Amino acid sequence: MRTPLKMRDDSYPRDRYYQDALMRLGQDSMFTKTRHYDGELGAVYSDQATIFRLWAPTASQAELIIYDDWYGEIQKSILMEFDDHLRIFSTELVGDQHGLTYAYRLTFFTGEQVITNDPYAKAATVNGHRSVVVDLSRTNPEGWGERMPSWQTPEKTVIYEAHIRDLTVSESSNIQNKGKFLGLTEENRVNDYGSPAGLDYLVDLGVTHIELLPAFDYATVDETEEPPSSYNWGYDPYNYNVPEGSYATNPFDPFARITEMKELIKTFHDRGLRVIMDVVYNHVYEVENHAFHKTAPGYYFRYNEKGELTNGTGVGNDTASERAMVRKYIVDSVTYWAREYQIDGFRFDLMGIHDIDTMNEVRLALNEIDPAILLFGEGWDLYTPLSSDVRAANQGNAKFMPGIGQFNDGLREAVKGNDFEITAKGYVNGAWYMEPQVVSNFMGGVDFGNYNDPLQLIQYIEAHDNFTLYDKLVASNPQQDERIVERQHMLATTIILLAQGVPFLHAGQEFMRTKFGVRDSYNKPDEINQIDWNRQESYRQSVMLVRELIKLRHNEPLLRLTSYEEIKDTMNVIRQDYKIVHLTYECEDYQLVLVFNAQSNVLNVPVESGKYTILVEDHVVYNDHSNHEEIKEFKSIPPISTLLMKRYY
Ligand code: CA
Repeated sequence: MRTPLKMRDDSYPRDRYYQDALMRLGQDSMFTKTRHYDGELGAVYSDQATIFRLWAPTASQAELIIYDDWYGEIQKSILMEFDDHLRIFSTELVGDQHGLTYAYRLTFFTGEQVITNDPYAKAATVNGHRSVVVDLSRTNPEGWGERMPSWQTPEKTVIYEAHIRDLTVSESSNIQNKGKFLGLTEENRVNDYGSPAGLDYLVDLGVTHIELLPAFDYATVDETEEPPSSYNWGYDPYNYNVPEGSYATNPFDPFARITEMKELIKTFHDRGLRVIMDVVYNHVYEVENHAFHKTAPGYYFRYNEKGELTNGTGVGNDTASERAMVRKYIVDSVTYWAREYQIDGFRFDLMGIHDIDTMNEVRLALNEIDPAILLFGEGWDLYTPLSSDVRAANQGNAKFMPGIGQFNDGLREAVKGNDFEITAKGYVNGAWYMEPQVVSNFMGGVDFGNYNDPLQLIQYIEAHDNFTLYDKLVASNPQQDERIVERQHMLATTIILLAQGVPFLHAGQEFMRTKFGVRDSYNKPDEINQIDWNRQESYRQSVMLVRELIKLRHNEPLLRLTSYEEIKDTMNVIRQDYKIVHLTYECEDYQLVLVFNAQSNVLNVPVESGKYTILVEDHVVYNDHSNHEEIKEFKSIPPISTLLMKRYY
């Protein structure tokens, strides 16, 4: 996601530390190449002792600060030992330290001192300011067991992107724990008309993976307020390895958020839903106040030749994944979530900021845990200073990152028009000549040359950024009849769910979610962002369409091919012009005929005469194979709709 600048770091004092300048001026190779530490950092707990390890290569002294309790005074400080070779400060506290509140005080050669939380903190006090030692075995909810079985059918993945607060906060959810992790563990919740809401709705819908917008600790919602006076999507990272406190029933208790997030994950797993985390290592909220900058000033971020922070992310700073200890941090953090929280997939925000070696290392590290863990991201081509021998992890370099997916904005733009121009139109809402672009993307980028296989494409038309599809369709044709908008919406969503690749839905897309024309709602109130569970009653046909298309996709292997060879052998383009897309799929026993009609009139399509089973017609799916038709030469298709039928040879 790209939100407007929240806090530009113009105040960044460029020569605050002598070392800061040193590192930016090229000395960092000393740290990236020869001083790379491989071990475990942070507070390493056992019931016998806790070892504290901090990488702070340019500090002259580090002290471990211990507080009386979570919110008490400083009790004492302990001078940490420095290993000159590893550049690690460490100290050990014997005994069971579960619950101990700590921070670090660092002194630099200039005499300047800072107090910082632990960049590797696993638990934290309210708003994340102090770090807390945790015995993670005590945070497991009842019945917490092993990971889910490996996801062996990646081609059956259907991703559903949702924000914890949005899903649970509206009155229409009838959920008790509003805005909380626990809200999504509540079963038998219904909207005001008795239809499922929350967890049960997600299970009924049939999606396989729920992608949670940032659930790690972010900075912009004050956790001490209940309910919070502000809202945020959460793309403003603070503690990368701690769950967000505002989603916990008691944010003051450092362990509640851990247990409750695990409770949510366990409930999803028990109900067959897998969990994808949205991770945002590309920037931090405020450089000055972040443990990265406080512990190793100048190291974690990219700078231009003037020594200023670069801004390829558009949010004020770019982390420097190509540096060894940043890369290590990202790998450590992702694998921590995968292991400790049993996360099933990771979505990298602005992945194009990172370099391919980092992403490939993340892939390899996840493979050690479970090779079926999904990994994908926003591979936009962003303006950030990477040296010429470093490849950015963007779409153009996808083939160098096997097993790592990319959001495919190509299909998004072809179907509904450019996201950044309000009136821009695409295939379903009035543009001409979009058919070849729809087809090439729909076929999983078979001829693009930059992907290894169709599963590298995340196929979507709506996500948290920009307009919802409904709002975009309304904005692009303001005078249009609501019934036409609905047909365009269903056609667009059908294209996504039948596309080769990995389909991705934005929460509420099934019932034509609206944010009332608000384009980027990252900090807008609940009234704009919350899911209105009653809205499903008004768009029942669309909800049914999505649910049944997911089933159809699961039932019909030709709709989810796994290689470009298969796509080339199976799919034929019959026609791609005049707002008509006509494809066939051939296999040994049968043929599929697929037609998208974006014209606003009935279309008579020539087909081979014979007996067909209708699978999709006029936005209704027939999964029971009960709808047969003897067709002679032509089949008529209603305006702005899909036809999919099957014929055995
Ligand atoms: Ca927070």
